Order: sequence, then structure tokens, then C-alpha cells
Amino acid sequence: MDKYELICYLKSQPIVNSHSHHLPNDDHYRLGIKSVLQNSYVNWCGTPVPSGDFKEEISAWLNAVRTRSYFVWLEKALMDLYGIDERLSADTWDIYDKAIRDAHQNENWHIYLLKEKCNYKAILLDTYWSPGQDNGHPDLFKPAYRINSFFYGYNQTARDHNGNNIQVMYNRCITDIDEYTDFIFHVIREKKQAGCVVLKCALAYDRSLAFGEATKEQAQRAMVKDPEPSDIKRFQDYIFNYICKVAAQLNMPIQIHTGLGLMTGSNAMQLQPLIARNPDTTFLLMHGSYPWISDIAGLTHVYSNVWADICWLPIISTTAAHRLLHELIDVCDANRVVWGCDTWTSEESYGAKLAFIDVLSRVLSERIEAGLLCEQDARYYAKAIMHDNAAKLLGL
Ligand SMILES: [Zn+2]
Repeated sequence: MDKYELICYLKSQPIVNSHSHHLPNDDHYRLGIKSVLQNSYVNWCGTPVPSGDFKEEISAWLNAVRTRSYFVWLEKALMDLYGIDERLSADTWDIYDKAIRDAHQNENWHIYLLKEKCNYKAILLDTYWSPGQDNGHPDLFKPAYRINSFFYGYNQTARDHNGNNIQVMYNRCITDIDEYTDFIFHVIREKKQAGCVVLKCALAYDRSLAFGEATKEQAQRAMVKDPEPSDIKRFQDYIFNYICKVAAQLNMPIQIHTGLGLMTGSNAMQLQPLIARNPDTTFLLMHGSYPWISDIAGLTHVYSNVWADICWLPIISTTAAHRLLHELIDVCDANRVVWGCDTWTSEESYGAKLAFIDVLSRVLSERIEAGLLCEQDARYYAKAIMHDNAAKLLGL
């Protein structure tokens, strides 16, 4: 099997996508080239798309972002999906815009792209703007429940980076730590009964991932109007340990954002004590802990309850994803690695899939070439990372 055959094989394979923020239906009907870019990482993690329509502004912006992985894969996706041969430029801007607008006149176009072009059989959806939704497509989207708000329920005024506080969301005024953990338990159980399959923690945008041990008495101290920062930290440490126990009891894996975020304390190794204290909890460490990618490989090697979820990584840095996947094949079982797009639109999701297939095909063919992997094992590994591992996780 040469590399071309391998790519064809991989492109035809079904995928269970471990992580997405796919926008609600109404947001897709209005998409054009500018809004596709605005709802992409090119805009969010770089230089914002110019607000005006001046050709000089657009050209300068494209020159600045064109080499980044985020842009490279999104542009490839748009060219492929809309059958445009010329690259995106100030001159072709309107051609892209018309093609995208025309296609989205069909209100099911965004779902068609996910099901038919991306070949997704299921997608774990993190609707952080309204945690736990399936966007009205329960056959395709399986909700993840974002738990950041639990860490900010120590009083009525605190908020996570999405503006949420679980007590405010549920109209509660709890000031006792035992009552609060009981309340958390009921919320998680209710979400599981409502169809949520995993818990999602994105605290790397709020605080360090170093979760120490804390006593109930220490956690209680934060449940006042103006708690000390050290008491807030201990409250959150206590709450995460509690959530890990509940997750194990209810058989819900926890997805944790690692790397980037606030950068300070976001590398996955910060989680090692929490993981060691909770051997019965399944942790999916996301995004390859970029740029500390070997943290993930090391943790999967030592802890069998740690999975590598390399969602987002192939479009953050295709080079880093290539290196991490080689390391993971070296040190981690084939049944503990998954991938997801981590995008808001179908266009960017398809680009993320192209990036992932590029990484996977190159890594597998290099290993076949080097005599480290036979063709049969390469196919098994591909099927596992693309579909089977996540399907098992979701109980599909
Ligand atoms: Zn995400």
C-alpha cells in the first residue's frame, strides 16, 4: 500500500469526532467568506479578519495569516468543498463569498458536509454558550457537559470565562459545602440522564491545572462574599477531586483542555497528581498539551486511565501533531487515542479532518517504510483512532 492508497483508504473511513463547538443551525444560513473566517481559529487565535472590504486591507491580512496551519487547512477545505481552483485573495474574495452563500441557501448544507463530506458518524458537542445541547440533531451530536461553572459556584458573584456560575444558572443560594457537592452530583446525574456522555473541563482558560488536595473545611472557607484567592483555589481543588469521583461512579469520562489557554500552568503534567489520585476516572487530555506535547505521551505511558485526545492539534501545528502521533504510537496503547475537529463551522471542520488525515497518513506510511509497522497494523490503528476508540467511549 503506497501513500496515495493509504490516503484514499483513510478518506473513506467513518469517523467518530471527539470534540466540536458546531454552531446552532441558524448561524450557518448566514455564512459567507468573512463570517466563515471570523468563526475560525484564523481569526480567534491570530489577527482578526479586517472589518472593512478594502482590497489592500484584505491582501495585507491574507499575507500575514497565509502560512499558519489554521489558514492552510481552511483554505484547502474551501477550495475542495466549493470547487474553486484559485487560492483565496482579495481578487477571488467575492467568488468564495458567493459560493458559500449560495450553498448555505440549503439549510441542511452544514449537516450534509459533516455527514457526507467529513463522514462523521457521531460528534461530541461542547456548546459552551449553553452547556449540554445537541443542536437539534441527536442522531449526529452527542453532548459533552462543560463543568467550568461548578468551580465558580462558591458565591453568587463569581463567573467562569464563559460568564457562568452553576448556582446562578440553577437559581440556588447554597453556602454549605456538603449541600453544594450534593447539588453538583444531582446536576451531573441529571445531565447524564439527558444524554450527556462526557464532562468537559476548559479551566486552562481560567486558572492553572495544578489541582492539589484540599479538605472540606478549606473548601468551605471560599463560600463567602469576598473569599481570599488561596481559599478559592482550595475550593476548586476540592471540587475537582469530588467531580472525578462522581465521574467514575457515573461512568462519564472527563475531557480536559491542556496546553495554550492562559499558558501559565496549562501543560498537561500539572494534572499528574489529580490523575494519580483518581485511578478509576477516565481522563481525555485534549489538544496534545501544545506546546508541551511530550507531557501527553508520558502520561499515557504511565497511567492507563489517561487517553490522548489530539483534537485541534493538527490545525494548531501540523508539525507538532506529526511528532506527537509518532510518540503516541511508540508509547501508548492503540485503544486510547482519539481525534476531533474542535471547530464551529463545517468548512473548518472539513479542513481539520484534512489536516488529521495528512498527519495520520504520513506517520503510518513513514512507519511502514521504516519497518516499524506492517500494513495490517496500520489499518487497525487508523480504524481505532478514527472511529472505534471514540465509539467505545460513547457507548455507540
Ligand atoms: Zn474546543
